Amino acid sequence: MRTFETQIGRFEAGFSICHMLCVLGVFSSSFSLGQVVQSERAQRFKATHEWTDPLTVPLVLSGNFGELRGNHFHTGLDMKTQGREGLPVLAATDGVLARVKMSPWGYGNALYLEGPDGITTVYAHLQRFTPEVQAWAVARTYKGRSLGLDATPPASAGLTFQAGDTLGWSGNSGGSGGPHLHFEVRDTPTQHPLNPLQGWVAKSDSRPPSAPTWWLESERGLVSVPTDGADTVVVEGEVRVSIEAYDRLDGASNICGIHTLEAVLKDGQDDVQWTHRFGLDELNFSVNKDMNAHTLFPVWKRERDQVHRLHRLPGNRLEIYGGGAASGVVALDSGEVATLECRVWDVAGNQTARTLVLRGGASALPWTVVEFEGASPQAESPSALHTLSAPQATLSWDDKTFFEPTAVGWRSDSTGLSAFVWPEFEAWRGKVDVAWKMPSREVVWGISGAALPQDAWPTADWVAVHEVGGQVKHAVPADVQEGTWRMALPSGGAWRMVRDTVAPKVIPYHSGTPLVQGGDAVWFVEDLLAGVETLTLTIDGQWARLVWDPKRNMATYEAADARHPSGAPVRVQLEVMDAVGNAATWSGTLVWP
Ligand SMILES: [Zn+2]
Repeated sequence: MRTFETQIGRFEAGFSICHMLCVLGVFSSSFSLGQVVQSERAQRFKATHEWTDPLTVPLVLSGNFGELRGNHFHTGLDMKTQGREGLPVLAATDGVLARVKMSPWGYGNALYLEGPDGITTVYAHLQRFTPEVQAWAVARTYKGRSLGLDATPPASAGLTFQAGDTLGWSGNSGGSGGPHLHFEVRDTPTQHPLNPLQGWVAKSDSRPPSAPTWWLESERGLVSVPTDGADTVVVEGEVRVSIEAYDRLDGASNICGIHTLEAVLKDGQDDVQWTHRFGLDELNFSVNKDMNAHTLFPVWKRERDQVHRLHRLPGNRLEIYGGGAASGVVALDSGEVATLECRVWDVAGNQTARTLVLRGGASALPWTVVEFEGASPQAESPSALHTLSAPQATLSWDDKTFFEPTAVGWRSDSTGLSAFVWPEFEAWRGKVDVAWKMPSREVVWGISGAALPQDAWPTADWVAVHEVGGQVKHAVPADVQEGTWRMALPSGGAWRMVRDTVAPKVIPYHSGTPLVQGGDAVWFVEDLLAGVETLTLTIDGQWARLVWDPKRNMATYEAADARHPSGAPVRVQLEVMDAVGNAATWSGTLVWP
């Protein structure tokens, strides 16, 4: 959290905190219509159908619905599993298995149970499925020769369950950062996730939300102001305001998301200038990444604080807002005063109210510029052409690439192998196409480490790498045409071109043999730049399934698949290829007990 001091702290005559709180009482719409509709739906459902909470341990949540995450709103509840894997996961409703997913990413091993009355429940990051589901899923991967699975079991598979039946066991698969169960309630026809705390899953919450910080945004940059400061904040020009607001649920200290927010701007005569509202009752996966436009992205990117804009950016397609499309702009003449009243609710109905008094004048706030400055050339988006021609590169994008008009810039270093691309601290909804002229062949060959070639430039194995704090954040394979790299970059920041000619590493995870107790075979697999693209295991020439865990660089053949002979030597081969085609193979003879 930033610290901040207001420079000018005079309070306007006639205004007091008491007066402002009284004004808040004027607004009656404490809950959105969605809240009522969803709660009634859950009540109706439970009056006529069985409902079982999916875990048998006391319910502790590490995350809730609508919380800001990575580049999306969180679509379910994260239920703690006491730091362990392997807890039974129960069907919340009667239902038929509508979708089975197995993936090293995202939901990992996940089940979608289609229940009555248009309700589907989702169980993600599982360790494994109940035996009949596991058998069906594994058979299906062998049929399709694919490590991942995303399929609907046919009715003939007979995968129907009753509320309370065990569907599988909790785990940490996919993009999970620790053992837990990710649980969702969805509307079946739309597959829109609904807020499970609106009558589906009961969780006590006695604490009102926290709303500690205002964020102000102007042409001069960004500044934060604590919400408990009693001072008037002096601003000049056009200002947009955001607020940091989050909630904590009983029994855990995890920062969770709020449910509803209402912000009202009033002028000095107490007349309402605009109102901004949202409610997190229902989400839509097709636009869920517009969370990047809902939050104040420069702060989100650096601090991961739960900050909500009190306005809607032009490109924001989220369907969570009520009322008119407020610009959210505050523009005050010198001496003019406006009051911003913001109320925040959690899903249990606990409320927190904050008021910010703004006055026009010479602002002495310590504004900080967030973008990289002083570089050139730049172009403004949306421009007629959406292109930027720099000495070494041409950048092009369209008006869907950013959520609002944004300056795009490029500057390459003296070697021509690294470049800074901005905006770095604005959300990118799409990608920017880059045609980047390769520097002289001496420079290119100097880094490739190979003997001087016949060709002017090597054309294969190029990767654009974006590193943050020494970690590869993005690696984008580049095509080479006529001495030019071509690729689509997904974000701003420092990018460098490297050749990845190094094959992945494939070795037994433990010393000697990949075979471990119980008959599983485990390999360590790693590729440093381009990243692992494919893994192919054969046992005696026959394709076999691997469980790929990129978090631990672990590829496992599970003996339970039973595709290996016992008691006789058999030829096993694992081939791994990276994203630019470098391949490595481990092969050996294994004898299963
Ligand atoms: Zn989750």
